[in-house]
Amino acid sequence: MAKQWAKSFYNSDAWKVTRLQFLVDHAFTCEMCGGHAEEVHHEVELTPENIHDPAVTLNPMLLHALCGDCHKLVTKRQKNMRRPDCDPGFAFDTDGNLSPRGV
Ligand SMILES: [Zn+2]
Repeated sequence: MAKQWAKSFYNSDAWKVTRLQFLVDHAFTCEMCGGHAEEVHHEVELTPENIHDPAVTLNPMLLHALCGDCHKLVTKRQKNMRRPDCDPGFAFDTDGNLSPRGV
C-alpha cells in the first residue's frame, strides 16, 4: 500500500509509463526467480525527500522487475537493513552509494 505522500507519484503518468516500459523491457520476468514479474521495485527506498527526484524515482538503473513474492521478500530485507542496530556510521550519498557518514 503506497504511503500518502507517495500516492501522487504512483498515480502519475510518468511512473505508469516508466514502470510498464521497464516490465516490457524485461519481458515481465522476475529478476530473482524468473517467474512472472508484475511489480517494479525501487532499489533506493522512496522517501518524502526523494519522491520528486526523477533520477531516483524513474531511473531504470535503480529499478528491478519482480514478482509479488520476491518483491515482498526484497522489501522486508530492505526494512531489516535499516534497523536501529545497523551500523549508523554509513549512509547513502546522493548517488545512492553506501559511504561513511560525514565524508
Ligand atoms: Zn520472483
